[in-house]
Amino acid sequence: MGNPEVFTNNYMFLVTLVSLGLLLVSCFYAGSVKKFFGTAWLLFIGLTLEFCAEGVAVKAAEAYAAGNEVTFYIFMELLLLLVGMIFMALAASNLLLRNFSPMPVVLTISLLGLVAIGAFVFIIPDGAMVNNMRLIFPLAGFVYVAIGFWSKLSEPNNGGYMLAAALNSVIALLWAVKLFDFHFGFILIPSLYYVLMSMAFIIIRSDFVVRKLKETEKQVEAYNQRVEDIIKSSPFPIIISQLGDDKIILANNNAVKLFGINPGELERYHLKDFFADTDNRRLLNERLEQEREVHDFEVLVKTPISETPFWLLASANIIDYNYNLALYTAFQDITSRKNREALLKNQATRDPLTSLYNRRYFEDEVSRLILKAKGDNVPYSVLMLDADLFKKVNDTYGHKVGDKVLIELGNTAERALRDKDIVARYGGEEFVIFLPAIAAEQAERVADRLRESISQAVVYSDEGQPVKFTVSVGVSSSDISDNIDTLIKTADEALYRAKQNGRNRVEVFTRKDLQEFEQQGLNDRRDESQNHHPVFDKENNAEISLLDGIETSRISDEQTFIEPPRPTGEKGE
Ligand code: GH3
Ligand code: MG
Ligand code: MG
Repeated sequence: MGNPEVFTNNYMFLVTLVSLGLLLVSCFYAGSVKKFFGTAWLLFIGLTLEFCAEGVAVKAAEAYAAGNEVTFYIFMELLLLLVGMIFMALAASNLLLRNFSPMPVVLTISLLGLVAIGAFVFIIPDGAMVNNMRLIFPLAGFVYVAIGFWSKLSEPNNGGYMLAAALNSVIALLWAVKLFDFHFGFILIPSLYYVLMSMAFIIIRSDFVVRKLKETEKQVEAYNQRVEDIIKSSPFPIIISQLGDDKIILANNNAVKLFGINPGELERYHLKDFFADTDNRRLLNERLEQEREVHDFEVLVKTPISETPFWLLASANIIDYNYNLALYTAFQDITSRKNREALLKNQATRDPLTSLYNRRYFEDEVSRLILKAKGDNVPYSVLMLDADLFKKVNDTYGHKVGDKVLIELGNTAERALRDKDIVARYGGEEFVIFLPAIAAEQAERVADRLRESISQAVVYSDEGQPVKFTVSVGVSSSDISDNIDTLIKTADEALYRAKQNGRNRVEVFTRKDLQEFEQQGLNDRRDESQNHHPVFDKENNAEISLLDGIETSRISDEQTFIEPPRPTGEKGE
């Protein structure tokens, strides 16, 4: 800084060196800002070279005083000043221009400088010119740096740049007045400059952090705005809720309508309040914890405006929203799909006329229950029911009334039995019932009570005539078999006996019967071509067998009821 006294006064030299060290430290600090890294270090190197040049100048003066050769010292001094200036110019261009290489300019200046130094030191030694160069190189360096920092004043949060710009302008000014032979004796200038520059670096770095923070804030705001826009324009109901306490932060119009939310008081609502099934909700949360996003998850929801819960398809993501983790959930109303599914399932398991379970469901479900009962060592029974002389009902009152009888028969059976008993329509006018946890003896009593209830039931013909009906019941149980087919077959066998013994009665298939059967072979006992399970096929006006599907007899209007329907003696008695 043009104060050779610094080098002759040990104390001042130390102070200056320490302040230069401080600048070094602040370079590390400010250099951590990527944008400022090059500037800080180039500037530090440039300033250090200037400082060294000053030292060499003092050496030259000493040598001169001693009457020694000084050409080399002067050459070294000027060279250091030139290189220092170039580094400062590079630092300045780093501030001024991005993506632009100042190398051609730097090379030209270096070359010119070198030629000038060579010429005026060695070829045509000229003390005045050397003195000028001593002033012009640093002056140019500081002017560059000052301009560089001034160019940054348009940036927001520019306190550090402002300090550096002012400081370097003052130093440049001091060099300029030196050019007019005005000398400053203030010995603290260099260290003061280094300390103030360190401060400028520190401010630049903290300003940068503030700027970054503001930028991120703006980005977050823009991001939130974008999310909000997307949500608002979505055709699906969407809700954003806080992950921590489940409070709703954002809900689009569709969600507001769907959930009956008051849009003015979003924060009053919690997403979990809309879940009708806590297990369902827990499952969704577990999946989210594992995967952070869940697609097409079926949720059962309830709202203040709809009494009955309904099904929605939900897709949920954990997102960053307003510096917090939030849950983004999009919904799709699938109530109609769910209803359709339920209907289909119903169609597959229920008999359309009586709404009782159908035969397939009965066999599947009972097979399962038997397995469980066996494991638990609990008894069970199977009842086979057949409406007595049902043809007569059809013939006398018509099929519509016959249908009514079948419906009433099923209803009566369901009313008379426990919820866990399974009543199914086996076919035509035959019903099959599974009684869990009921052994043969008790089953006979249950069956008789049921038979009695059915005999009390009544339906009315179109003309208002009361139509009464009875059933015969066959009972089989876990004493006989744990195979559903055998149970049905043996219950049917007992039913057959009930018919033979006068109808409107209950017969039990016993272990003794089983022994007899095992001797003769259960399947060979009856003529299987006989249709024991006829169903009336309304479309074709024909009876078909449930067991083999063979059409057994055409029903015509003239056909009269023959009693008894099954010829006796076919069991070979
Ligand atoms: P039994 O006491 O010996 O059982 O005499 P039954 O008249 O009931 O004799 P059978 O079992 O041979 O005949 C059953 C009749 O039930 C024949 C069939 O037309 C009628 N049926 C079967 N399914 C339906 C139905 O869905 N609706 C009506 N109305 N009748 C049916
Ligand atoms: Mg019958
Ligand atoms: Mg029958």
